Amino acid sequence: MYNFSKKRINSESKELTNSHFMLYWLYQTETGNGARGNIAKGENKMANKNHVKLGVAAAAAVAAGATVIVSKNKKEAHRKEVAEKVNNFRNTERGRFERNSKGIYYSNGNYEAFARPLKPDGVDDKSAYIVGSGLGALAAACFLVRDGQMKGEHIHVLEAMDIPGGACDGIFDPSRGYIMRGGREMENHFECLWDLFRSIPSIETPGVSVLDEYYWLNKKDPNYSLCRATVRQGEDAHTDGKFNLSQKGCMEIMKLFMTKDEDLYDKTIEDVFDNEVFDSTFWLYWRTMFAFENWHSALEMKLYFQRFIHHIGGLPDFSALKFTKYNQYESLILPMIKYLEAAGVTFQYKTEVTNVIFEKTEDGKKVAKTIECKVNGEETTIPLTQNDLVFVTNGSCTEGTIYGDHTHAPMGDAEVRTSGCWNLWKNIAVQDASFGHPEKFCSDIEKTNWESATVTTSNQQIIDQIQKICKRDPRTGNVVTGGIVSCMDSKWLMSWTINRQGQFKEQKKDEVCIWVYSLFTDVEGDYVKKPMKECTGEEITQEWLYHLGIPVEDIPALAKDEVVTVPTMMPYITAFFMPRRKGDRPDVIPDGCVNFAFLGQFAETPRDTIFTTEYSVRTAMEAVYGLLKVDRGVPEVWGSVYDIRELLDSTVKLMDGKSPLDIELPGPLNALKLPLLKAVKGTVIEKLLEDHNIIQKKK
Ligand SMILES: Cc1cc2nc3c(=O)[nH]c(=O)nc-3n(C[C@H](O)[C@H](O)[C@H](O)COP(=O)(O)OP(=O)(O)OC[C@H]3O[C@@H](n4cnc5c(N)ncnc54)[C@H](O)[C@@H]3O)c2cc1C
Repeated sequence: MYNFSKKRINSESKELTNSHFMLYWLYQTETGNGARGNIAKGENKMANKNHVKLGVAAAAAVAAGATVIVSKNKKEAHRKEVAEKVNNFRNTERGRFERNSKGIYYSNGNYEAFARPLKPDGVDDKSAYIVGSGLGALAAACFLVRDGQMKGEHIHVLEAMDIPGGACDGIFDPSRGYIMRGGREMENHFECLWDLFRSIPSIETPGVSVLDEYYWLNKKDPNYSLCRATVRQGEDAHTDGKFNLSQKGCMEIMKLFMTKDEDLYDKTIEDVFDNEVFDSTFWLYWRTMFAFENWHSALEMKLYFQRFIHHIGGLPDFSALKFTKYNQYESLILPMIKYLEAAGVTFQYKTEVTNVIFEKTEDGKKVAKTIECKVNGEETTIPLTQNDLVFVTNGSCTEGTIYGDHTHAPMGDAEVRTSGCWNLWKNIAVQDASFGHPEKFCSDIEKTNWESATVTTSNQQIIDQIQKICKRDPRTGNVVTGGIVSCMDSKWLMSWTINRQGQFKEQKKDEVCIWVYSLFTDVEGDYVKKPMKECTGEEITQEWLYHLGIPVEDIPALAKDEVVTVPTMMPYITAFFMPRRKGDRPDVIPDGCVNFAFLGQFAETPRDTIFTTEYSVRTAMEAVYGLLKVDRGVPEVWGSVYDIRELLDSTVKLMDGKSPLDIELPGPLNALKLPLLKAVKGTVIEKLLEDHNIIQKKK
């Protein structure tokens, strides 16, 4: 993937020279020839000479001599230590699956995937209080029931709103219309999520699981897009599956890929990429699909790239993605609620938890002692013992959502729904450094907001135009757009999507629900000369119809009479993408906590990426397994980043089919190509390189 322009070669070769220098230096040092070795040799010589001058030089020589002796002794001790280790070494796998300091271990493969853990010790004496009823919280309750084998009636879900599901919504609001603030792109390697949903019974088909249903649906009706982007009011932009990255752009991405997490703390994407990436089709796909803005976290960008490396080829046409049949409230949340209610779990709505009070014991344990909350506005407390486990969803991307409607913008006196999640986290965070830094994520809504809108129509002119673009009939019940269609030249950077219809079970046969969103909410539109955040549903419809390619003279009447659009402004929708460093997100189980864990998108778990359903479910699994000592591995984040096949494939795909062997490599690497190819000739390495298009045979 060493692929860049001449200018870049120069600066890159400097970096290579530096790193080569470092390697050379280390090598020389180890063998006694390097800087340290030379000094030592010089000092040796000096010590052997009889003409030792008095004064400073002598003192220096004595000191140097002493250093040599100390260093020699150290080396000797080290050598001994290594020799001892080698002599005592035993090949064994014992201890490989021991729990880490958080009480969990990671596993992979299907041996553990199908295993059921034994009932954890003492679980019948324990109970759980779960703050929130989003996917993370419900998943925690499900894992407590299924794997922890905790009695359902010992589990209490405390939710600020009057409805469960959190960000995973989907509802018909009689005063507004259909609303879904988001739609979930999902994939086959959501390891914890599928581990959960294999056990949740479908509420549609008796005797099958939610996973069965989902699996069959996506097999029968696989997702892919036939038009990823449009320009000039509804024309196909013909991005045609290409990334259009320059060599320098590819190099910037690969450099980020190789960068250590620590080196990306508090850095933005703008700090690591320039226009070589930002002007590419890759960046259009990436930022519209994952909702990254240029000022977001470079660390998160890297983690995403690594996490989804196996899907690089599926990015341009969304063939990497899978979707539920209905909106996720109906397809995921409702089956979980039914499962939990059947198990006896209690749900307490309109209960805002305002604080959890901790006590620190002499041996360094942190024990949650009291939950403070407001039930229907009235303050109350729940006393806790170490047998009461507390799970808190800290932060929410849909916190403070402002609801507009077709004739009102989501501003002014529009309805705002708040759960108090930031206050709760802040109140917890002041009690201990290991509880994170909420202000890092929730302090700059200019950088964390965007807006979506749910558009509902049965107008034939609009539906015909949709069909022209996405090349599928929206009313068949099958895949329609196959992921978002981005309007490349939209000032708002608008994208829209139509998932399988009806997205709502109760939707009328001829109705089509469209999800529209824009990344830039504070600039004027191309048709509507207003920022999106100030627009009514009708005005957002006008802008969308314009980019759809509806004749401009037809736009006002269609937008007014033929469509119902509900805008939802989400001030914190990308709060988790804000630049951060270690410690800003608390660990799922912060050090020392014995009956407390965090859940969701603002808790830290290694290698996974936020803004995904998987992340919330993973934190839930880790929290439950860790606090209850459930004896089963948590499936590790899919290890594609360690899979040489995926790395080779993605390298070629990122360069739109080119092999790194066909481009100019920096410095001495270029000269190594031929000898390397010769060396691997006839070996399995040659076969691997051929299978993954690094060696491309001339046809
Ligand atoms: C627009 C949008 C698009 C998305 N796209 C995708 C996608 O393509 N793919 C994907 O996998 N994921 C996607 N997601 C992300 C996914 O839906 C969320 O990450 C996930 O649902 C979050 O679940 P959670 O339980 O962690 O948090 P939330 O769903 O935010 O739940 C938090 C819950 O806790 C409650 N709560 C908070 N504080 C308190 C308190 N103090 N007291 C009582 N209750 C409280 C809240 O009311 C809420 O119900 C998207 C989300 C949105 C909004």
